[in-house]
Amino acid sequence: MAEDKKSILVVEDEAQISRFLQLELEHENYTCTICADGREALSTALDNEFDLIILDVMLPSLNGIEVLRRLRQVKQTPVIILTARDQVVDKVTGLDIGANDYMTKPFAIEELLARIRLHTKKKMSRANDLVCGKLSVNPDARVASYDGKNIDLTKKEFDLLLYLMQHRNIVVSREKLLDEVWGFDFYGSTNVVDVYVRYLRSKIDSVYKVEIIETVRGTGYVIR
Ligand code: CA
Repeated sequence: MAEDKKSILVVEDEAQISRFLQLELEHENYTCTICADGREALSTALDNEFDLIILDVMLPSLNGIEVLRRLRQVKQTPVIILTARDQVVDKVTGLDIGANDYMTKPFAIEELLARIRLHTKKKMSRANDLVCGKLSVNPDARVASYDGKNIDLTKKEFDLLLYLMQHRNIVVSREKLLDEVWGFDFYGSTNVVDVYVRYLRSKIDSVYKVEIIETVRGTGYVIR
């Protein structure tokens, strides 16, 4: 596969549509992989790095919503849901569980191509990155960056930031953070959490003049 070609996984059980998509995508210089089965699509998406996934909802063995839900537990590959059903409930469910975009059949190929360009352009961060505004955390490489600049963190600082990023929008108590980041047998008070939050703020918030980690008085901390 050529380096500059972006790869797209098309998950669609209607051969006529997937064939059409393949021709159009290859014409636009994408490499295209086709899956007609939900389970097969999930394992293909998990085992390979795609730049984008086009995902039908009604599929054999595992529906597209379930494929997306399971995929999102592991990686953030951009997904455009493509379905014949234009019911609001489908759209909401899809977007709720992490679809990046949504198109209903019949679709205009030019519009789909435009959306593919949009969602494959956001490749500044790797597929597995946890992103919050300009803050990006990669759990595999254990690298955190702000606006593309690396943040130098100790192991515990990184673990704390990672935990908060994995639980974005959830207020996490000091006790919970102590248990999850330091472990149950840590001997000491929850003050250590406050100390490490201060370290993180001095390395991120103070440097970039932002408020990444929010204190919820009497409760704990949250990244939104
Ligand atoms: Ca279908």
